[in-house]
Amino acid sequence: MNNNRIVILGGGESGVGAAILAKDKGYDVFLSDFGSIPSRYKEQLDSEQIAYEEGGHTESSILNAAEVIKSPGIPPTSPIMQKITAAGIPVISEIEFAGRFTDAKMVCITGSNGKTTTTLLTYHILQNAGINVGLAGNVGKSLALQVARDPHEVYVIELSSFQLENMYDFKANVAVMLNITPDHMDRYDYKMQNYINAKFRIIRNQTPEDAFIFWQDDPVITAQLKSIDTEAKLYPFSEHFEQNSAAYVDENGELALNTPHTSLTMPRSGLSLHGLHNLYNSMAAGLSACLLDIKKDVIRHALEDFDGVEHRLEYVDTINGVRYINDSKATNVNSCWYALESMPDDRNTILILGGKDKGNDYSEIEPLVRKKVKAIVCMGKDNGKLLDFFSGKTDSIHDTHSIEEAVKTCAEIASEGDTVLLSPCCASFDLFKSYEDRGEQFKATVKRLNN
Ligand code: ADP
Repeated sequence: MNNNRIVILGGGESGVGAAILAKDKGYDVFLSDFGSIPSRYKEQLDSEQIAYEEGGHTESSILNAAEVIKSPGIPPTSPIMQKITAAGIPVISEIEFAGRFTDAKMVCITGSNGKTTTTLLTYHILQNAGINVGLAGNVGKSLALQVARDPHEVYVIELSSFQLENMYDFKANVAVMLNITPDHMDRYDYKMQNYINAKFRIIRNQTPEDAFIFWQDDPVITAQLKSIDTEAKLYPFSEHFEQNSAAYVDENGELALNTPHTSLTMPRSGLSLHGLHNLYNSMAAGLSACLLDIKKDVIRHALEDFDGVEHRLEYVDTINGVRYINDSKATNVNSCWYALESMPDDRNTILILGGKDKGNDYSEIEPLVRKKVKAIVCMGKDNGKLLDFFSGKTDSIHDTHSIEEAVKTCAEIASEGDTVLLSPCCASFDLFKSYEDRGEQFKATVKRLNN
């Protein structure tokens, strides 16, 4: 083993950022990717003179590392990870590594759903306040690259359970947990507790000076909180006031945010993001901003003028009196639940579902489907599970296998006043490159209906 050698697995945004930071800090760096590395990252590695390989892992160049920085996408069960673990080499995440080289304040956001929205909303508030803030984690540039080349005083970081898995000494000054519902069960041995434990790593190392903001109506979060110790100061939020709520909507429809230094109210109706889920996201972002002592007016204004995030309940167009909504990012059942919750009650929704099923249980959305959905259009390589589950639970159900077929079917069965909602509950990889690709193709196909 070479004490100064750091090996990075995965040549994406986080891996390349970690490689650059490690090189800057004087480590002997090697990056290895089992697949191919996008050319823009290869150019970066070349110009930084960082050694790398792609298309496979050379064990002799990896198993001599003192530490491995792993991309969150690589499962611990992969053959190379098993060899690394067997060799006793510590494995950390890029965020953990970057955290060693900065004293910046860390606002970290996790949850099964709403992370990106809340992260971008928080970033928007802090930017409007003139804070020197960086955006990192699943969105924006890697934390490591920013720490190396463009340091900030505060970072807003979106953390998935995969990233949290390999975090040990890192500390969030403000940790946000939006919700925990089953997701990625295939990666957690189909054991919910494993997933919950990964998520709760976000409050590791927190002290009484740090804050933990969480949704207090989430039974999973509250049960877990009872079974663990944390020194962090707790800031629970809820739709209506409950015990100790730091954020809630009062009887006059005013959103109240209360922290020791900053408290404010504003009309709920003024929030730029609609739907119950976005109320929660706004509460979490607003509380984080209060805790960073941002001026009340700036917080109010930023919560009012945020543009929203692409592929999350994104309005596309109205064609022949039919509204089309792109919620391609709804890659699990719970996010589709919230999308349906925000639809009108008149059973005028046509729902596009389907893709790569991650062990989904569709019974969670069944009551809302019965109440709000007039037709389901399944769009996937194999729609068998969806067809079995939803047949007879909606007026009509359709079996399609491409975006063109799905949108065409929706346009044929829709009448004026209907909403076509793409909120698929599933990952996109059976027919698309990514959820972004699915959303883009949906929008383009809808726009073509105009011709
Ligand atoms: P994430 O980054 O956690 O995947 P996003 O902000 O990208 O979350 O939103 C993903 C999906 O989840 C969207 O379809 C959105 O409608 C839904 N969603 C957003 N916020 C929440 C929330 N707080 N609770 C449940 N669902 C949500």
